[in-house]
Order: sequence, then structure tokens, then C-alpha cells
Amino acid sequence: MKNIGSMVIQMLKNEISEIDYNRYIKQLTFNEEESKSNLAVYNAPNLLIANWIRTKYADKISHLFEIKTGVKPAVSILVKSQNTASVQHSIPATPTHSDKTPIALLNPSYTFQNFVVGGSNNFAYVAAKSVSEKPGIVYNPLFIYGGVGLGKTHLMQAVGNVMLAQGKTVIYTSVEQFLNDFSRHLSNRTMDRFKDKYRKCDLLLIDDIQFLSNKNQIQEEFFHTFEALRNENKQIIITSDKHPKKIAGLEERLKSRFEWGLVADIQPPGLETKIEIIKKKCEINRVKLDKEVINYVATIIENNTREIEGILSKLNAYSQLMGVDVNIEFARNVLKEQMAEKRNNITTDLIMEIVSKELNVKSSEIRSKSRNSNIVYARRIAIYLSRNLTPNSMPQLAQYFGMKDHTAVSHTMKKINELMKNDEDFKVKIDELANKISTMTSE
Ligand code: ADP
Ligand code: MG
Repeated sequence: MKNIGSMVIQMLKNEISEIDYNRYIKQLTFNEEESKSNLAVYNAPNLLIANWIRTKYADKISHLFEIKTGVKPAVSILVKSQNTASVQHSIPATPTHSDKTPIALLNPSYTFQNFVVGGSNNFAYVAAKSVSEKPGIVYNPLFIYGGVGLGKTHLMQAVGNVMLAQGKTVIYTSVEQFLNDFSRHLSNRTMDRFKDKYRKCDLLLIDDIQFLSNKNQIQEEFFHTFEALRNENKQIIITSDKHPKKIAGLEERLKSRFEWGLVADIQPPGLETKIEIIKKKCEINRVKLDKEVINYVATIIENNTREIEGILSKLNAYSQLMGVDVNIEFARNVLKEQMAEKRNNITTDLIMEIVSKELNVKSSEIRSKSRNSNIVYARRIAIYLSRNLTPNSMPQLAQYFGMKDHTAVSHTMKKINELMKNDEDFKVKIDELANKISTMTSE
């Protein structure tokens, strides 16, 4: 196996550019201990390289293995620092199931322990937890729905990881894979094997079921799979971006069955939950960030928690590259593109509207010369947010807010920064406002 692992890298070397090879692929080492016939594990020196290789070459590596061994494994790139053997990051490449051993290619870090529970996802979490304790009995099917990046796949795989550890047969599949598998078996006339595989597992996880929409033949097949599993009290978990009732082009009998068990939604996380999720991801990926940076990242990620890992790996890579710690200025700098995209939609008018509503002060008052303390307070906040969330320069802002010149703006920024440093509540409030404004413009 070890030989094959390095042979595959040699084969890859012949197919890719020298730069890619020398810079990244060369740094991979085959991890024999954790590899299996259907799982090829490599170690990479850091998160950035691991991420990069995973997106660009994991499929290719898997394919080369197939050429060598006849089995197409999942490919996992782990981050291992020298002398420590713990798994930091492991996400399988596109899974392919071999028929003989229906394996679940689950992300091992998608566990209940690694899931941060907050008001937005508590219901779905508790439901998934109960299902993992009593599969096939409590809620069957469990239907989890919600927007992108809110943790649906994570939760369903957490149940999968629990059952996998108990030696149960777990299948995790997308609609697309299910469909491909079906077509392949249909044309090979091996439908009995297809049925065996999907109707005899202990847990079937179907991710993003909304893609069944308008695909009639596969809906029919899925219906029978569903019936067979449910009759045997085998657990089914389904995720979707919307409530079953709202999935267009889906047979009524499927819609109604999806509601037979429990339908649980996940809402976008609040600021506190986001902060906790970032801390959790830092812990898993061994990235060290101070509180200020974590709060900052929380305000720029909006609702899609998927951005977090990208941001962490970016911060980590830059700080390694430049040999400096990540502090708030550094983070702002590195992530300014991320912010710039969002800034384009944010205007000073919008900020004024929100600040005036929030603090119950009229826009005209904020822009007036009034020295009334309430108004001064609101004005300072509006200026601070405008400076951070819009591309306006200090002179532009001075003009907008009717101030003498840019030094007045700079003075305001200083004041607010001081306040934020000394008053945690105030800081959270400002971050929340910033977050609210960014979220409004991204929808
Ligand atoms: P979805 O399937 O809803 O689009 P994912 O399950 O793929 O979202 O989640 C996106 C990323 O965010 C994953 O890395 C996941 O681990 C993380 N994530 C989302 N919600 C949470 C949470 N509550 N606690 C920890 N990580 C989370
Ligand atoms: Mg998902």
C-alpha cells in the first residue's frame, strides 16, 4: 500500500505542472496507518496546502489509485504538524461507493461534539441527537432544512459517524450520486445490486433532496427505497434547502412521507453562536486567533458558516508566510477583499437609516451640527460604521456628515475605537450593527 501511495504521486507528477508539483504535491506524504483499501490518506504540512490539494487534485489522485488497484478510494488530506499525530483536517474527496462494501464517506470532524448548539439550530440538533440514540424508532425520516452553510450536512453526518462507530452500515449520498448509481446499474442490468445496496443499509443519508425536483424516474426509485427502508425500521435522514411542502416538482406522496417523521429547520446563527463556531473551527484546525480577531471574523462571515474555514486557512497561511501573529490589523488587511465585495452594496445612506432607527435619532439630526450627547453618540457610530463598511474616504465622510475636515473623522474613529476597547458591551453592539448591515445587503 505504501508503495502504491508514492507511486500514485509519481504518476501525478507526470501529469501536472512542475510548479504545482514542486510547491505542493511534493510535500505530501502517504499516511499508511490511516489508509484503507477504500480510503487513501495523505499528510500535508499545513491547512492551506491541504485545502488546495483537496480541491485541485483529490479526484485525480483517487482516479490514479483506481488505475493502479481497481478500487477508487476516497482521498483524505490531513494536516499533521511534525511529531503530532492528530487529525486536524480531513475532508474526503467526492465519494464513490464500491458495491461490495457500501462505505460511508463521512467527514470525521462532523461530530456532535464539534457542533455548536445555539438557538438557531437547537431543535435540529436535539432531533439528530435523539435519532442517533434510537435510530429507526423516534423520528423516521428526520428531515432537516435550512439555508446554505448552516450545518445540515454536518448534523446528518454526525448521526452517521455515531452509527458508523457502532459498526452499522451507513450510506451518505447526494441526489446526483444516487441518480448516477441508479443509471449505471440500470444499463449494466444489475438493479438487484443497486437495491441491495440502498435498501439494506442501517442508515441512509440523502443530502440536498431538493435536487430530486422534476426528476420523475429517480423519484419513483427513491420512493421504493424509502418504503423499503422505513418498513424495516431503518433510519433515513434527509436534508433540503426548504420545507418539503415548498419543493416544487416533487411527487405528493414523497412530500407527505417526508413529513411523517420530524421536520426540523435550522436558522442563521446569531453573533454569539458564530463566535463559538469560529472558536470550534480554530480548535479543530489548530489555528490560534485572539478574541478581537474572532469577533471581527464573526461579523464578516454573515450567515454562511462555510466561509469560516476558508478565512482561517487564509489567515493561517499568510501569517506563516510572513512569520507574524494574526492581530486585528493583520486580519483586516488580509480579509479586505472579502470585505470589499460586501462594501460595494453598503452605502452611507443605508447605515444612516439603520443607525437612526436603532438609536431613535433622525438622520437629519445626525447630519446636523447638534452637540446633544445622544446625537453626537449616534453620529460617531454612523461615521465609524461608514468608515469600516463603505469605501468612502475620510474627506468624503467629513463632507457627508457636515464636518470641517478629515481630522474630525479621524478623531471620531479614535474615540469609538477607545470606547470599544474599554467597553465590551458597546463593542458587541457595534459588531452586531455592522453584521446586521452587511447581512441586509448580501441578500
Ligand atoms: P449545509 O449542509 O447546511 O450547507 P454544512 O453542514 O456543510 O452546511 O456546514 C458548513 C460548515 O459550517 C461546515 O464546516 C460545518 O462544520 C460548519 N458549521 C455549520 N454549523 C455549525 C455549528 N453549529 N457548529 C460547528 N460547525 C458548524
Ligand atoms: Mg450540505
